[in-house]
Amino acid sequence: MEEFDAIVVGAGPAGCAAAYVMAKAGHNVLVLERGKFPGAKNMWGGAFFGPVMNELFPGFWEEAPFERFVTRHAISFLTEQDILSIDYKSDVTEPAEKKGFITLRAKFDKWMSQKVEQAGAIVASGLAVDDLIVEGGVVKGVKVGDEQFASNAVVLADGVNSLLSEKIGLRKAYSPHDMKQGVKEIIRLPREVIEDRFNISGTAGVAMEFIGSCTRGLPGGGFMYTNLDSVSLGVVVQLSALMDTQIKASDLIEDFKNHPAIAQLIKGGQTAEYSAHLIPVSGLKMMPKLYDNGVLVTGDAASLVLGTGLILEGANFAVASGMAAAETVIEAHRKEDFTRDELSNYEKRLREQFVLKDLQTFSRAPQFLENERIYQLYPELACSMARKIFSSDGKPRENTFKVLRKSLGKQASMWKMASDMIKAGRAL
Ligand SMILES: Cc1cc2nc3c(=O)[nH]c(=O)nc-3n(C[C@H](O)[C@H](O)[C@H](O)COP(=O)(O)OP(=O)(O)OC[C@H]3O[C@@H](n4cnc5c(N)ncnc54)[C@H](O)[C@@H]3O)c2cc1C
Repeated sequence: MEEFDAIVVGAGPAGCAAAYVMAKAGHNVLVLERGKFPGAKNMWGGAFFGPVMNELFPGFWEEAPFERFVTRHAISFLTEQDILSIDYKSDVTEPAEKKGFITLRAKFDKWMSQKVEQAGAIVASGLAVDDLIVEGGVVKGVKVGDEQFASNAVVLADGVNSLLSEKIGLRKAYSPHDMKQGVKEIIRLPREVIEDRFNISGTAGVAMEFIGSCTRGLPGGGFMYTNLDSVSLGVVVQLSALMDTQIKASDLIEDFKNHPAIAQLIKGGQTAEYSAHLIPVSGLKMMPKLYDNGVLVTGDAASLVLGTGLILEGANFAVASGMAAAETVIEAHRKEDFTRDELSNYEKRLREQFVLKDLQTFSRAPQFLENERIYQLYPELACSMARKIFSSDGKPRENTFKVLRKSLGKQASMWKMASDMIKAGRAL
């Protein structure tokens, strides 16, 4: 049986980060990826902030295949006819690594895995790990069909459906309540059309999030990001709500594309890709055991995703957890100790940095975001207020508070709204 200093399962951001750090430290690392190539089966909305990636690959934007910098962020309430947006653009010059980057996974994962190979690791694609080798409660390697590969340190970076961590009892099967279903289309448009419609040029780009009719009021939202010569557009919806209502995510994306404000942005575009993927969204509540004898769990496999309704961050959490797992394995090799006691340093590392700190700070967010009023009543209310304020029927105007009370109608009291605002302040 071939033996390695470390085996990494999955060549997404978590797995590549772990493998890169260990290979750079001189370890003999094998990465096993089930996709035809790293990134082949992967998707995300597409924007991440740079500092963590910059720690891993200093100045990465000089060579990485990113599409655009995020120079404008917009958050919008949608009803079937209206759109009300908060549009943020700043001319403060940030260092490149502080900006958001818009990327496409097929290109970005491939680039990351090439960096891993250049650092000396073996990246073997098209090989799915079926099981772990466990002897006397200690993970000793992995099984791929009839083949076995041995290692004292196995890093699980196999994403949201981590069957391997389930098999060895580190986590339970997740409930649809803890998952969001994401569906995304990449819609091709000429570069100059994108720059004209979104009012951008050069490497500038726009990240847009939407709440309201794009999910027919179900918990979740829509997103749209500008790539160089395409836009990424999609919806993310709580899986249990889709199952309960029998609404198809594919129908939601069609509704979203047909909204008057969206339709004019993508007019004439051709859908080049369609993909769907789950996201673990219940934060600390669903976090599995992160380590055991000979094994560590990283990224989505460990549910390390932050969703606040305003941002969805998984990429940075995946990279940071991959790096922390790698540092723990390097230390374990130095001490020749791969017991769960030694590997518990992985969780300590995550607690000292933003990964577990942020999940703790926003630990109330998942529960707060289950409130249906966020997706139904408040987008309607905000848009109907705007309609009343920005139009005139020639009669004397009412003051804004009265307009608000009338718009609320019987759907909720002012107290309920005030209580939701206080809860939002605490959760977000
Ligand atoms: C619709 C959507 C939008 C998102 N938008 C954003 C965003 O804008 N910003 C952001 O930061 N995050 C976003 N995310 C979250 C982000 O994509 C994830 O948090 C991140 O990709 C997690 O990285 P990972 O390496 O842990 O897992 P993954 O990226 O899922 O990688 C896991 C890898 O393991 C491989 N694998 C799985 N099982 C096996 C096996 N048995 N053997 C071998 N290989 C295996 C897979 O093929 C895959 O390559 C989004 C997610 C979705 C679904």
